[in-house]
Amino acid sequence: MAVNGAAGVLNALWCWVLITQGRKHRSPALVADGRHLLTDVLTSVGVLVGVGAAYGTGIAILDPAVAVLVALNILWTGWGLMKESVGGLMDEAVPAVTLDRIRNVISAQADGAIEAHDLRTRCAGKVTFVEFHLVVPGGMSVADAHDICDRLEGALQSEVEDARVTIHVEPENMAKHSGVLVLTP
Ligand code: ZN
Ligand code: ZN
Repeated sequence: MAVNGAAGVLNALWCWVLITQGRKHRSPALVADGRHLLTDVLTSVGVLVGVGAAYGTGIAILDPAVAVLVALNILWTGWGLMKESVGGLMDEAVPAVTLDRIRNVISAQADGAIEAHDLRTRCAGKVTFVEFHLVVPGGMSVADAHDICDRLEGALQSEVEDARVTIHVEPENMAKHSGVLVLTP
């Protein structure tokens, strides 16, 4: 029981390291390993509780009853990890908070452009892909439009970690006037 308890404490520490580092580096595999260890920690607690209760009360069935709960928890955690990992494979759009930050950066940094539309984002592991159309006055030189793009790319990269930005430049007759991000007065 003592060895089991000590192993549980070590596992708990290791699991905390894996989950915090996994979140920090956006690695689903590290987080999954941490969550796997967490089920081991709960299993250790289950052994202590189950065997302890059975021994203390003399009701032998408490031991397998706790084992069933432990097993259900493992299944539940496994199911959750499978769902999250499949989401990671499918390249999800960024969370709403990040999308708001991206919109704000574009609105603040697109001086000289008329509007931005068709903003699309997706996360693949650590990398966040950001794509949108930038409408500029038709007579603007390529060099000027490119300057705006570089400014936007730089601002987005400093706002969103590991952002890969693709901007498609369009003349003003392509303006949509709906679903729009920037409108210079
Ligand atoms: Zn467009
Ligand atoms: Zn360039």
